[in-house]
Amino acid sequence: MPAYKVAIVGAGPAGYFTAQAFQNAQTKNLTFAIDMIERLPTPGGLVRSGVAPDHPKIKTVSKVFEKIAKTEGFRLFANVELGKDVSLKDLRERYDAVVLATGSPKGRKLGIPGEELANYISAAEFVPWYNAHPDFTTVKVDLNCETAVIIGAGNVAMDIARMLAIDPAELDPTDTAEHALAVFKSSKIRKVIICGRRGPEHAAFTAPELRDLLKLEHTDVYIDQAQINEANLRVDQIGEVEKDLKKNLENMLLIADHSKKGVERKLEIKFLAAPIEIKGSNKVEEIVFAINEVNNGKVVASGKTISIKAGLMVSAIGYDCVEFPGVKIENGRITNIAGHVEHNIYVTGWAKRGPVGVIGTSKSESVDVVDLIIDTLKEPKNSAGIKGLLKSGHQIIDQVGWEKINASEVISGELVGKPRLKEVEWSKLIDLGTQQ
Ligand code: NAP
Repeated sequence: MPAYKVAIVGAGPAGYFTAQAFQNAQTKNLTFAIDMIERLPTPGGLVRSGVAPDHPKIKTVSKVFEKIAKTEGFRLFANVELGKDVSLKDLRERYDAVVLATGSPKGRKLGIPGEELANYISAAEFVPWYNAHPDFTTVKVDLNCETAVIIGAGNVAMDIARMLAIDPAELDPTDTAEHALAVFKSSKIRKVIICGRRGPEHAAFTAPELRDLLKLEHTDVYIDQAQINEANLRVDQIGEVEKDLKKNLENMLLIADHSKKGVERKLEIKFLAAPIEIKGSNKVEEIVFAINEVNNGKVVASGKTISIKAGLMVSAIGYDCVEFPGVKIENGRITNIAGHVEHNIYVTGWAKRGPVGVIGTSKSESVDVVDLIIDTLKEPKNSAGIKGLLKSGHQIIDQVGWEKINASEVISGELVGKPRLKEVEWSKLIDLGTQQ
């Protein structure tokens, strides 16, 4: 029996875990030829462009991706854009199944006055900027101010706050983009305030991320103990408390309690503060917050406001997926039922469920989507696959090409004591990935 042809669009964690699920499902009579299509010249998705550089352990999952990529039947087609270089309709016709693992790259808007001011930046731009994403090298980031405010009580807000609040020398042995490192090194920011609109009990941080804050060597971390005590009282009234929530509140209390080092760099987490206006003549100067309170389990406005003077504001309030011809978007996700979009098109990862869950969450979900696909397979298609669809001369970066880019980055990094020096220019990445 010939192999079934599968196209996976998006070379991030969800894409690789889908490929792995197909590989693991293979038997003597059921085999798959997997083509992974990626818009960027480099694979890795969030592992390359999302994970904070000071948390390199999370990036070790790329070793798993390399193993998947080296398994027989897998081919990488990087520098190929869905909707531009190939259409979904063409892929649908040529492949037995198409799985969209295109993520959620668009930052959500707060929808408050002042979002147009300079130095108001979405996490969807700030994070890829410091991670050397080739589309975000020119984001204007001005750290020539004393205070930065980060909106959102999730792990992305926490990553950004750490990047701004730690001593930039701590980033020397990381793969932070060189252009960003230079800006961090000249930063005047000494206070970073994370603002959550609801209470500590509603925060989306995870316990390991909170615990890590206690390990910061050159930054003191502050949380108002009274806010945590009040949250604990509210939670106790509800009855049985979920293990994760209990751990989060315990960690927050540890942070509030732990003795401070007395250093000038400060990171503070404030709760029950919802931004309502950003003020400034040309750039961000002040942020006005409505102070919320929790009444009978509901978060409501107290009628009070506070204002924080800050020269930088970053919103980390979640992401939506981008549209391309052939898919419908609903609530920021590709419309689907349990991963099925329509015909032989499927979706997985953040594009399927929205921007929630850590990298590993996509693993079990991809297995479910692959099981669903296998149940519907008929006769394998006899088609030329993607190659016949691309214009002649199109510069594809395949697995070997990516390994060349990777080797070049790692070698350049070794010379300066970093895990890699990321190349940030499209043309240079393509040259490196296509050189003979
Ligand atoms: P998230 O965990 O969903 O957090 C988003 C935060 O934004 C929430 O606190 C939310 O508050 C707040 N928010 C939403 N709309 C808002 C508004 N209009 N005004 C004020 N606040 C608003 O999203 P994320 O931080 O982007 O992270 C996405 C996923 O990636 C998460 O599952 C996260 O755990 C994961 N991640 C993991 C790591 C790691 O493991 N190291 C690192 C980064 C990201 P409400 O709850 O009130 O809506």
